Amino acid sequence: PEESISLLTSTTSSGKIGELEDDTISYFIKKKLGVWCKQSRGHWELGTIRSTSGEEASVLLSNGNVMKVAKSELLPANPSILEGMDDLAKLSYLNEPSILQNLKLRYSKEMIYTKAGSILIALNPFKDLPIYGNDYVPACRQKFIDSPHVYAMAGAAYNEMIRDEVNQSIIISGESGSGKTETGKIAIQYLAAVGGGSCEIENKILQTSCILEAFGNAKTSKNDNSSRFGKLIEIHFSAMGKICGAKVQTLLFEKSRVVQLGSSERSFHIFYQLCAGASSALKERLNLRDVSNYKYLNQSDCMTIDGIDDVKKFQELTKALDAVGVCKEDQELIFKMVAAILWLGNISFQVTDSQNLIEVVDDEAVTSAALLMGCSSQELIAALSNNGVQSENSTIAKRLKLKQAIDTRDAIAKFIYASLFEWLVEQLNKSLQVGKKCTGKSISILDIYGFETLQKNSFEQFCINYANERLQQHFCRHLFKLEQEDYGSDGIGWTKIDFEDNQECLILFEKKPLGLLSLLDEESNLPKASDLTFANKLKQYLDANPRFKKERGRAFSVRHYTGEVFYDTNGFLEKNRDTLPSDSIQLLSSCKCELLQFFSKVFSQTQKQSNSFHTAALDSQKQSIGTKFKDQLFKLMRQLESTKPHFIRCIRPNAKQLPGIYDEDLVLQQLRCCGVLEVARISRVGYPTRMTHQEFSGRYGFLLSEANIYQDPLSISVAVLQQFNIPFEMYHVGYTKLYLRAGQIDALEDKRKLV
Ligand code: ATP
Ligand code: MG
Repeated sequence: PEESISLLTSTTSSGKIGELEDDTISYFIKKKLGVWCKQSRGHWELGTIRSTSGEEASVLLSNGNVMKVAKSELLPANPSILEGMDDLAKLSYLNEPSILQNLKLRYSKEMIYTKAGSILIALNPFKDLPIYGNDYVPACRQKFIDSPHVYAMAGAAYNEMIRDEVNQSIIISGESGSGKTETGKIAIQYLAAVGGGSCEIENKILQTSCILEAFGNAKTSKNDNSSRFGKLIEIHFSAMGKICGAKVQTLLFEKSRVVQLGSSERSFHIFYQLCAGASSALKERLNLRDVSNYKYLNQSDCMTIDGIDDVKKFQELTKALDAVGVCKEDQELIFKMVAAILWLGNISFQVTDSQNLIEVVDDEAVTSAALLMGCSSQELIAALSNNGVQSENSTIAKRLKLKQAIDTRDAIAKFIYASLFEWLVEQLNKSLQVGKKCTGKSISILDIYGFETLQKNSFEQFCINYANERLQQHFCRHLFKLEQEDYGSDGIGWTKIDFEDNQECLILFEKKPLGLLSLLDEESNLPKASDLTFANKLKQYLDANPRFKKERGRAFSVRHYTGEVFYDTNGFLEKNRDTLPSDSIQLLSSCKCELLQFFSKVFSQTQKQSNSFHTAALDSQKQSIGTKFKDQLFKLMRQLESTKPHFIRCIRPNAKQLPGIYDEDLVLQQLRCCGVLEVARISRVGYPTRMTHQEFSGRYGFLLSEANIYQDPLSISVAVLQQFNIPFEMYHVGYTKLYLRAGQIDALEDKRKLV
């Protein structure tokens, strides 16, 4: 039958799916079938309905209590044979408590992976499980192990790449600490085992994570090893299916962490690894001290991570750098830059007059930083205390005020570190370069920050959430399309599914000239603009957009697909402009250090410098951070569009980073955010129960009253359906499988039990 189902227009979070109808309730009472009963604080308890009167039902809870609740607060529970299903789509009832319960049960048995239709849900175990490694790869490859696994998904991507000659992607998302990076590494491990040849390339690929993590990861309040950048790793294979190269792309690097830390957070691992692990000779050359001496690091109370040995990590890092072919001279240069940044942070200023003008304190910090950077102390002092202002035909040096001087110092530190990171990625890419023998087929693994909603959201969240809107659109399109293809290939008549996508929200961000990003750039170009004038401009032009909501003062809200997010525009303009004073750039280009010369050359090439940092206007030639990010994202999406996607949604089961704890509220909130409930809903209106004719006839065939008439599985299956009066619209018979609507399998299970 032709039908058009509107999916995303009904509410997800209320859990209304499968809400009990009156006749269903009578059926549930008669059969003593389980129901979920809503408790205070949004929790659900399992029970059975005893009786109803009017809109109310009396429910016997599994803990022995009897409770009176509104019927609308009841949801059907799944029969026990469906408990702990490895695919949520196999559940008859796909409501929130059922999904939560199913995942919880599996998690308690250390089954961290569950499918939801075509996507893989991965719960972070927060401990090592014996389900990875060399024994497991062949077992997964030969399908001895049939449970959901990252290996299985990576294997599917690999097989499809070979079979269909189509590039594949594995898109991993989830919030901080949910296990994205680990999951990505597990996928790469599998691909390296399966696609490994005689060459060292796969070893190099495995080593890149160590390097990227040392320089790009840090301890945050949510994760001891949090990636502070998004990344896409493309792994290229030859026609024979052997790995022949790789390419790493990074985006949205959080360079502010170099100069600013939250309490109980750390800066990038490398700072601590270097201070702890450098040989005494190296320490001497870099004039290195203990971490506690450096202001960039000791502004936080946290210097070490439980269970992590920075000395050992440093040894691993140097081995990894050796392995990817970064020579010892370059390694020394890298560490020099890291040490220079630490000393820069220790440079202090003295206010010399009532106007808040400063002088740089000429101490060990200045001498050490200058020495490491390859300039004189005087040059460094000059760049930190003056700013050249261009007048008609000369440049006048203007003394800086305290805040300006601090900002300049920090801008130089951030610039050096971010450039260093980019340069390192380039070195990795050179080392992993795709050889000529490659067919060009690849598997890309995307590990990007998930949606973030903090109490106060800033420019970083703004960019991350925008990226997630783009990814969500990609996700929806493919999911709906794939679902329909599955029906199509099995001969099931299926009509278009409408879904309300998040296009409106993307328009709010991207529209020119009246979208969030364009207006931000426009305001960043005005020298006199402030975060408040920016907020007012948004209110003036975007108020009519249903996805935009004005807030008081400097703030505004966006109605994202996950809900409303409140943004504070404080710092938006400055972060978007991301300027570096021209004096600083001149200083860096005159330094004797080759790396610094190179960084400043790249900087000057990519953008025409604005004349003055402190007038703060964004030169129209210079690309803003927002626009640069948008361009990167578009490029990324174009790249992903040409691949067959495989989605992994990582879930953080608790905020304590501890094994064995399943925090239902936290899990539910993530399930809602990452679209698992949408997938569940698609399956709900589709045919969640899918069994091959063999499976179905094997399980229920013996119930037939005239068992011997039918021989083949297909006829037996159809006869079973007819004998038990399963309504015609409740199933579809495909070429290979039988498709049943939600709830249909229960009646048959009941019959089986009676026999
Ligand atoms: P962020 O967004 O902050 O980078 P993330 O999603 O990348 O977070 P990971 O760093 O991958 O999170 O995981 C956090 C920690 O959880 C890991 O350091 C590890 O201790 C643990 N973990 C994650 N996945 C697994 C796994 N499959 N097996 C064992 N431990 C894991
Ligand atoms: Mg990570």
